[in-house]
Amino acid sequence: MTFVSPAIQSTLGLLPTEVRGNVLWELVHPNDVVSVHGAFQEALSQGGRRELEFEMLDVNGRWHRLDATLTLLEGAERPAIGLVGTDVTDRRHLEARVRDLEDQLRQAQKMEVVGRLASGIAHDFGNLLTIIIGASGRMLDELPAESPLRTQGDAIQVTAERAAALVRRLLAFGRQSADTPVVLDLNIVVAEVGQLLRPMVGEHIDVQVLNTDSVWPIKADRTQIEQVLFNLAANARDAMPSGGRLTIETRNVAAGMHGGLAIGPSVSISVSDTGVGMDSTTLAQAFEPFFTTKAIGEGTGLGLANVYNIVRDAGGWTKLTSTVGRGTTVSFGLPRVYEATVTDRHKPSPSVGGSETVLLVEDEDGVRELVRDILSLAGYHVLEAPMPSDADRISREFDGDIPLLVTDVVMPEMSGLELSARLREQRPDMQVMYMSGFPEPTGGAAGGVAAPGAHFVAKPFDRQTLLRAVRGALDAPPVP
Ligand code: ADP
Ligand code: MG
Repeated sequence: MTFVSPAIQSTLGLLPTEVRGNVLWELVHPNDVVSVHGAFQEALSQGGRRELEFEMLDVNGRWHRLDATLTLLEGAERPAIGLVGTDVTDRRHLEARVRDLEDQLRQAQKMEVVGRLASGIAHDFGNLLTIIIGASGRMLDELPAESPLRTQGDAIQVTAERAAALVRRLLAFGRQSADTPVVLDLNIVVAEVGQLLRPMVGEHIDVQVLNTDSVWPIKADRTQIEQVLFNLAANARDAMPSGGRLTIETRNVAAGMHGGLAIGPSVSISVSDTGVGMDSTTLAQAFEPFFTTKAIGEGTGLGLANVYNIVRDAGGWTKLTSTVGRGTTVSFGLPRVYEATVTDRHKPSPSVGGSETVLLVEDEDGVRELVRDILSLAGYHVLEAPMPSDADRISREFDGDIPLLVTDVVMPEMSGLELSARLREQRPDMQVMYMSGFPEPTGGAAGGVAAPGAHFVAKPFDRQTLLRAVRGALDAPPVP
């Protein structure tokens, strides 16, 4: 070492006089020693310049990435190499961060588009299923108990219910799900879901629930958290066809950097299995919507995509690690909140019929007729309007009280939200209940923002759900 530039002090914290003998080699990262050495040898034997990047340790024990050029110095007495390096540590970090962000953005955009597509299809499909479920339900009501057609009717019902469940998954995936976040103790949720998981995964899989003493409260929609756990457990089950262990663990996670991710204080749930694991290609795509390695009919590829969306919408983070042949762990965390846990989540369901007058607005004939029939059979007096303008006319002409408007959200002429605003000018005490294939009363782009306290039922619904929602809306406290 015949010359060391004073700049070494500002990069590595060393005085030029301290860099003697082999000291430099001791500071090169062990992974880089061979390539740096090779570059020196080549420059000595072949001349010219060599570009390379390698890491060196500073006096504080931090690694610095150097973008370096090696040159065989011309006209030196003895063969000599000049090494000029630029510290690019921060730049490389920044570049990696930007790449990460770009990846995340691309992923988010893809999810957005596919989500919109999926919920569009689910929306139309939900309408059809509402009719199928309602019509077959009524058919079954009328069929005598001993009718041989009951089997077929039951099959229609069961299949349509399953299709409806699929539609709900698609809608949840389109992240327009009807979530009602409440403050939850995840230990309780996990303990209860754990019970349900045992029969679901089968006896050959040992389910273990590990809860630390207590976890912080978080805020989320309970059904969605359950859905996440079911999705993860289903994957674990599929990964362990000949048995194994499924472990669900809850934990408080303090704020800090975790695996390159800055996260706030959160409560994490990790779901681990001792199954087949994933190779790196599968791992890289596992969260992609519609990515599945399972046979047609066995996998939709929506499980993990759903998990990702639900957790992201709740402000949380998701992490996936897996080793082929060893197993998989999916963890997710939800931000800690500073509110008390809500315990009584189930309100007693009120009685379901009534005799009030209900104004029903729905442009889809099949759905309207179905809802009309359900409501009239339950004793309500139903005023039917296929279009918002009809509803407007009926409301002006009808003499009596109309305590409830039941309306579709997306309609020609005007949205359900606009309609309800208009009708409430005439009838300020009227309650409003929206029916929509989009699980939030905004109806997508055509909607607008629903008034707080508006009631809502998601299509496809069954008779009980509709009747309960209608009763609930009628019994709700008066509109402010
Ligand atoms: P699906 O289960 O319908 O295939 P998911 O989105 O739930 O869709 O999962 C996508 C893919 O990720 C699966 O097909 C499987 O290849 C892989 N995968 C997910 N979870 C696990 C797991 N616990 N162990 C092994 N592979 C998994
Ligand atoms: Mg799955």
